[in-house]
Amino acid sequence: MTPVSTFADKRVAVFGLGGSGIVTAQALIEGGAKVEAWDDTEASRVAAAALGIAVVDLSTVDFSSLAALVLSPGVPLTHPKPHWTVDRAREAGIEIIGDIELYCRERLAHSPLAPFIAITGTNGKSTTTALIAHLLRVAGRDVALGGNIGTAILALDPPSRERVHVIECSSYQIDLAPSLNPTVGVLLNLTPDHLDRHGTMAHYASVKERLVAASDTAIIGVDDEWCREIADRCEAARHTVVRLSVEHALETGINRRGSEIYWTCLGEQRSITDLSGIPTLRGVHNAQNAAAAIAAVSALGVSNEHIRQGLKSFPGLAHRLEVIGHIGKAVAINDSKATNADATEKALASFSDGIFWIAGGRAKEGGILPLKPYFERIEKAYLIGEAADDFALTLEGQVPYVMCHTLDAALHQATLDAQASASAEPCILLSPACASFDQFKNFETRGAQFRSQVEAIPGFKPFVKG
Ligand code: ADP
Repeated sequence: MTPVSTFADKRVAVFGLGGSGIVTAQALIEGGAKVEAWDDTEASRVAAAALGIAVVDLSTVDFSSLAALVLSPGVPLTHPKPHWTVDRAREAGIEIIGDIELYCRERLAHSPLAPFIAITGTNGKSTTTALIAHLLRVAGRDVALGGNIGTAILALDPPSRERVHVIECSSYQIDLAPSLNPTVGVLLNLTPDHLDRHGTMAHYASVKERLVAASDTAIIGVDDEWCREIADRCEAARHTVVRLSVEHALETGINRRGSEIYWTCLGEQRSITDLSGIPTLRGVHNAQNAAAAIAAVSALGVSNEHIRQGLKSFPGLAHRLEVIGHIGKAVAINDSKATNADATEKALASFSDGIFWIAGGRAKEGGILPLKPYFERIEKAYLIGEAADDFALTLEGQVPYVMCHTLDAALHQATLDAQASASAEPCILLSPACASFDQFKNFETRGAQFRSQVEAIPGFKPFVKG
């Protein structure tokens, strides 16, 4: 844990007692703050009280007597409208911050040179964060990995010069961290997302911009207009900026040609690595993640040799184009995290042909029509869940499909068909382009069931990671 000393002896309200809220309250208490915490859910209040956290109905508290309101990132700060605690804190003129801000202040107070890599973007945050942590570990560094991925930042060991904090940051977390100033800030990409919570794309982008604008080295994917403008502004402000593109050649920065990643400096090129043959980093989207991770760890002095070694042994993340193993000649891939067409597009784009595609669930707006350019790569589709009828209408006459209703029926049928395919390595791909809630608790459960069903097929050979 990282005790928060910067609020010692001060009264602090903590609203939101999910996983990170509880840790935040404990870290503040450990550092000597007087914490009063609340959550609208009774079970969370009971859990906090059992840990010795003072649970106080904040509606009865005079906010002007508090030093700060520490908010969970899930609580609306601005849109659709500020939460009532936010209104009360603003009226009282106290600051409204989150756990990443508390970490930043702790770092500044006790170990300002502690290496700190922060990662954001609309897509690819978790993969890039996990990959950066992996590359650093391969290079023998002590790594504290967390934030929006897994462990809450204050549950990690304290900042120190010998330890690299590698922290995934959502836009909500950045919004609550005014002094976020990482050693290396990574902004991967920006597309419209969470606009219900940020109002406009311009506001969403401006929040993400803060992460790189205040970093010592800013690594920015410049394949979209929003990020290009942010890179221009950072450069105009004389920040160190490393641009990366997987779409077009840069004069200076980090680039992709086919599966090769290379540095280019004033047009001069130097190859770093070739991603072909690394099954956990398939697809152009993963080339963007890999390029960002390479740039980030290079900024901390990791050698090309360690980078190449680490890329090869990256185990990948569960449910994101996760290679489960082989059934006969077919490879089984769990991409359960693909809950919309955008994410499934990345999966379909990662295989040139021979795709036996399991799709469906609770449909999102727009359906699968945007996937039409990839239909010719699909040998057959296996439709499940509520969206099956709609998806069948879109596929009609273009892609052969079977109505399977359930995941196990789809897998059974796809397994038989894939063995008969002319493709040398057909791919049985679960990439639903749908939410899971019609048949599963969440996308993780859906992916886990797929994995165990695949593993139960006679003759299954698991993928050996690393
Ligand atoms: P995040 O943490 O931002 O949600 P993940 O690394 O968990 O991102 O990846 C989630 C999904 O987003 C992947 O399954 C893939 O479909 C898509 N994705 C991953 N990286 C990228 C990228 N660089 N650009 C666009 N889409 C991506």
